[in-house]
Amino acid sequence: MSPIYTPADLADGAPTLRALTPPARLAVIGDPVSHSRSPAFHNAALRAAGIDAQYIKLHVPPGDVPATLRALPAAGFLGTNVTIPHKPAALATVDEADDYARQAGAVNTVVVQGDRLLGFNTDGPGFTRAIREEFSVDLRDLRILILGAGGGAGRAIAVQCARERCERLVLVNRTVEKARTLAAELTPAFRSDRLLGPTDRLEAIPHEPAALRTALENIDLVVNASAIGMHPADPAALPAELLTPSLMVLDTVYAHGDTRLLRDARSAGARAANGLSMLLHQGALSFELWFNRPAPLEAMRAALAAA
Ligand code: NAP
Repeated sequence: MSPIYTPADLADGAPTLRALTPPARLAVIGDPVSHSRSPAFHNAALRAAGIDAQYIKLHVPPGDVPATLRALPAAGFLGTNVTIPHKPAALATVDEADDYARQAGAVNTVVVQGDRLLGFNTDGPGFTRAIREEFSVDLRDLRILILGAGGGAGRAIAVQCARERCERLVLVNRTVEKARTLAAELTPAFRSDRLLGPTDRLEAIPHEPAALRTALENIDLVVNASAIGMHPADPAALPAELLTPSLMVLDTVYAHGDTRLLRDARSAGARAANGLSMLLHQGALSFELWFNRPAPLEAMRAALAAA
């Protein structure tokens, strides 16, 4: 397990972090952060690209995000990734954020440019790349149902699907009001003269079997972005009898191998993939933002598989 540093290590120009071999110049900040697999594949990428820098874990308590990010330029950092629960706070701290990060309400990648902090979110574009890689399809051609659309990951994915003008989007959330609020925000992306059958192009429904059964009649891709499946004993995020061979299923959860949802999907004859490819591609896109060059994807993929 790699060491975990704290904001105190960034103080006074970060002498301890600069003295590491190679020097620490990138990090993931989160609370908790011990579980993060990002150092494994980012350090592999840095080695493969011959860059004299290392990527560390920084445990940052809530409330310390602005000061931590502001300390990065003087500490010699090139940028950071930001994970749970600090993505909204990072958006509020950066000097400038790209369109998608602002719409998603979250920053997962910070680029240090002189004394300025630039914010990006690679979760959505990473999701797009993962879907292309896993299923050889584009979001714009799909009818997509997102479980857990009211959470941070679900929102980021829903915003990406709307930006790519997917054919149909069903937002599912246990607390259905959150899905309805998001649907109201995304409505402009789904206004068009195209007729796509009798169903609405954008819908918000509760995470309940009856509503799911009806919605799934017109869906190509199911995405689980809910927390169900993070623990090995969790139930399936969707009743198994609702899964059919024509579906593609991507579970963003990747912590303990295949989730029950993925196992059920494969048994039903559906195509299924876990969240590792999304993790890989959001990381590769962060690398490209920091270094303005293609990421060594295969080195990152191998390191992620080994981790
Ligand atoms: P979050 O903001 O806390 O959202 C959790 C979501 O799960 C909410 O929609 C919540 O519904 C729902 N939920 C929790 N317990 C539930 C239950 N028992 N029944 C139904 N819904 C339930 O968390 P997050 O940051 O979005 O993370 C969610 C998942 O995405 C995690 O599993 C994480 O591993 C995964 N993720 C993967 C990647 C990747 O790169 N592969 C990236 C980010 C996140 P309510 O709104 O009703 O509470």
